[in-house]
Amino acid sequence: MLPIKEDNVSIRQIAGPIRKSPPGSISLSVLLCFIFLLSCQDRQKSEELKPADEKISVITTIAPLYSFTKSVAGDYAEVENLLPSGAEPHEYSLSPEDAIRISKARVVVTNGVGLETWLDKMLMEDKESDSPEKQIVVDSSSGVDIISNDPHIWLSPKNAVIQVKNIRDALIRADPANAERYAETAGDYVKRLELLDREIREVTGPLKRKEFVSLHSAFLYFAKDYGLKEAAVIQETPESEPTPRHMAEIMDVIKTRKIRVIFSEPGVPHKIVETLAKDLNLQVYSLDTLETGDVSAGWYEAKMRANLEVLKEAMNR
Ligand SMILES: [Zn+2]
Repeated sequence: MLPIKEDNVSIRQIAGPIRKSPPGSISLSVLLCFIFLLSCQDRQKSEELKPADEKISVITTIAPLYSFTKSVAGDYAEVENLLPSGAEPHEYSLSPEDAIRISKARVVVTNGVGLETWLDKMLMEDKESDSPEKQIVVDSSSGVDIISNDPHIWLSPKNAVIQVKNIRDALIRADPANAERYAETAGDYVKRLELLDREIREVTGPLKRKEFVSLHSAFLYFAKDYGLKEAAVIQETPESEPTPRHMAEIMDVIKTRKIRVIFSEPGVPHKIVETLAKDLNLQVYSLDTLETGDVSAGWYEAKMRANLEVLKEAMNR
């Protein structure tokens, strides 16, 4: 900016006496004008090139959101996931490094439905700031039919489609130069999710058993979509241990509804699940809630299909 201003000043100073001046000073003013115009052109050029040169940076909070976003963004945006593999999203707390990563992202993709309470304070503070280029924060649950107190919307591929469309719209807003690409890749991914939905429907429709007990309430959306029922839940709130009274209720439900299967979660050796299974002669299977993992674009579909295999075996016993 500074040299341009100086040129401006110089041109204005010279402009007055031009008519009386010898030819030499005219060529000086012409030269200065020329330099000024060149510098303007240069500036314009660099502004035009910026969006194509630099990929937008996108951060997602949890693993399924990474799969959704990466599947839409492909190589047109830099996508990273905030929570490391193995981190539990219900009880997560932000590190100072996390806060820096989030603040640097152009787009932040959240699940919503109260899952990321650990992010709310930071995003509120950010909303109040007057930064010239506002960060785009996506609530991917927007438009999803919410079941109260269950944030696990992604376990229903139908909800996943809604989440993907919200993510697509945010990417287009942040990076309009690649709008057509995002629209096309999102369209392809939605078709894959619809195929997944059909596969699940074909397997769950004829299942012998429809009711199950799970470790923490995560499968309400899935169960609702495919005619299954989460008859009881061991942990009333995530990571909590059941009270003796709640245990008595669970055992009552299992006996009266003749439930044969308990769904635990991968990597969670759970003493209460084991005891319950032994006492009531239940089979323990592991269903993934898809809250954490080594993320990739195809991760979501692979994990959902792995869950489907478990369901097929467990619920046909
Ligand atoms: Zn959960």
